[in-house]
Amino acid sequence: MLEAKTNDQYRAFQSEIDFCQKEIRKSEDRILELMGESEALDKNVKAAEESLKEEKTQVDAEKREARERTSADQKSAQELVKERGAIVASVSGATYQRYERIRKAKMRRGLAVAEAVDGRCTACNIAMRLQFYQDLKKGDQILACESCQRILYYNPPVAAEDLAADPASAVRQ
Ligand SMILES: [Zn+2]
Repeated sequence: MLEAKTNDQYRAFQSEIDFCQKEIRKSEDRILELMGESEALDKNVKAAEESLKEEKTQVDAEKREARERTSADQKSAQELVKERGAIVASVSGATYQRYERIRKAKMRRGLAVAEAVDGRCTACNIAMRLQFYQDLKKGDQILACESCQRILYYNPPVAAEDLAADPASAVRQ
């Protein structure tokens, strides 16, 4: 202002100062506005961190559970392989080969044995001839379903009073 030599110069300086002060006020308002916004954002970040922590805990627990289940499954798979080996050793070679041939046929989806219930093969649901079903019930030979070729087994029905008395032995009969 002191360097202004004319009124025009003075006014020009004055308007420049006014303009700068206005800009400063605008910037200050914007700073306040941003501070207000960042407060809400900080809250959001904190909430997100919190829920991330919770989720991580949950995922860790699920991972642990999955690992435990996997090791239990592996253990029971090993036991089943062992049990299978014992069963294979106890049947004749011809029977085992017959079983494997049936099992490996794609259309049977690895299922070589089926239960016969009420005169029907439970795998393919075909009704058996009465004579065939009676032969199967005798249990003195290995019979295969005449429709799907699976080896059939028959479990006689268990009386309710036997089940109540001793379920384990009743099922084995
Ligand atoms: Zn069948």
